[in-house]
Amino acid sequence: MSRLDPDPLDREVLLAFWKVHILHHASKGPVYGLWLVQELAEHGYRLNPGTLYPVLDRMERNGWLLSERAREDHIRSRRSYTITAEGHAVLDRLRGFVEELHREVSERAERKRSAPKGRAPVQTAPTRARATGRPRA
Ligand SMILES: [Zn+2]
Repeated sequence: MSRLDPDPLDREVLLAFWKVHILHHASKGPVYGLWLVQELAEHGYRLNPGTLYPVLDRMERNGWLLSERAREDHIRSRRSYTITAEGHAVLDRLRGFVEELHREVSERAERKRSAPKGRAPVQTAPTRARATGRPRA
């Protein structure tokens, strides 16, 4: 898959998951691009630095991260990324959405697994109350 033709799943969905991971890890301490590539690979996400760095740049432009070059390394300085106060606020909001999403998606899977044998699980439309339920901040 070339960089000009990214996987639609990456572009439409996983890109957002990576950002949640990045903010989460940056909230624990400064992070580096290559470390993030390895960390995301452990979660099963395959992305190369050429994909990650533009994401980090956009997150910095949004004011969620602050990058800094390590001064002691003159030859090939690594850039470290630190979360900002705004990044923390964004992460807090995202946590609510992630919890809500996880609750609903894993609940659906559970219901399907526990459906009586020999009968297709009954699909019901989500109730209005649940569909409009918002995660707490
Ligand atoms: Zn992670």
